[in-house]
Amino acid sequence: MTPVFDAHVHCFPPLSEDTGDMQARMAETQHHIRFAGATDIRRTRDNAPIGEPVLVGDGDGISWLPDVDFRIGRYGRVEFTINGEDYYYQLFTPSLWDNSCPADYMITQMDYAGVDRALLQSDRMYGKLDDYLADCIRQYPDRLVALAQVDEWRGGSPDQLERVRRQIEDYGFSGLYFSTSGFFHCDFEFGVNDPSLEPLWELIGELGVPVHWSSASKRRPQMEVYFSELEDFDRWAKAHPGISSVLTHGLENLRIDVNVPNRYHVPPQILRLLNNPGWSIELMLHKMSFDDEFPPYTPGIKDVVRTLVSEVGAEKLIWGSDMPSCEEVVTYKQSMVLFKTRCDFLTQNERDGILGGNLERLYPL
Ligand SMILES: [Zn+2]
Repeated sequence: MTPVFDAHVHCFPPLSEDTGDMQARMAETQHHIRFAGATDIRRTRDNAPIGEPVLVGDGDGISWLPDVDFRIGRYGRVEFTINGEDYYYQLFTPSLWDNSCPADYMITQMDYAGVDRALLQSDRMYGKLDDYLADCIRQYPDRLVALAQVDEWRGGSPDQLERVRRQIEDYGFSGLYFSTSGFFHCDFEFGVNDPSLEPLWELIGELGVPVHWSSASKRRPQMEVYFSELEDFDRWAKAHPGISSVLTHGLENLRIDVNVPNRYHVPPQILRLLNNPGWSIELMLHKMSFDDEFPPYTPGIKDVVRTLVSEVGAEKLIWGSDMPSCEEVVTYKQSMVLFKTRCDFLTQNERDGILGGNLERLYPL
């Protein structure tokens, strides 16, 4: 039996807990939601949606971050204050009441949804969780796999190399999570192809583990920046042909601008990237059609899967849920509906591969 293997989940202690990086994490989280739609940010005292993009700032990077006393609230909220007025943004559903997702909670969710294994992505938004995630995989070695975290903007420095080696060799992590959001801390002065990162890629090659890439720098103009980061990844792929890679979150273009006329298309930059040997893509398409009534039934995302299958092959496609954030749009079970019942052009083998088999080849038990 092919296992059901989720390529994208998170475990984390209460987000209000300082895991040693609170100031940097709050700054990065604030940057992460800077383009939140006007109706997503609300005034706390009367719950009124506010019409202005108050968190965008004058430039891209930590030097331009608006000073708003950004902090973690309760029930899935983050909060901030501008000119004495409090505002909030619902980062998770209110059911994530203390903003935590411990391993036994995640495992219970997996049991309920029928998921055998899951990959813990280690985005800094959830904390500096090297030790925490090590505990999670120690507790559930047959169920959870973890990705190492690195401070991307100084990924080639000795302390970061040591840190990555420790996570992989001593803690038993299985790959590296690398997000362009990290370059926020150096005002996006450089990116993934900077020579300073070469020692990191040498280490990853030596350790023989995959890299999971996230294009998440949230710079303007968003669509152009996304496409140019995909081109950066392609250049990187051609310079580092021996390292297996997964593009996480899949097709950010679908949600960056929901009003473009050809929204549900696969950009050529993604096809080019995926045609590199050893490259796959994680699909959490339910979150990309977040604005629809019931995302798994959005006709466009089915077309996206069909295009990917014919252009790069079903064996390069990997389902990811992004639990517990997934529940902003659908339940955990519903995040599989697109592949389980909607894509009638898939063979049973292809379906099993997307829902777990393809990821199992990267991380065999
Ligand atoms: Zn995530």
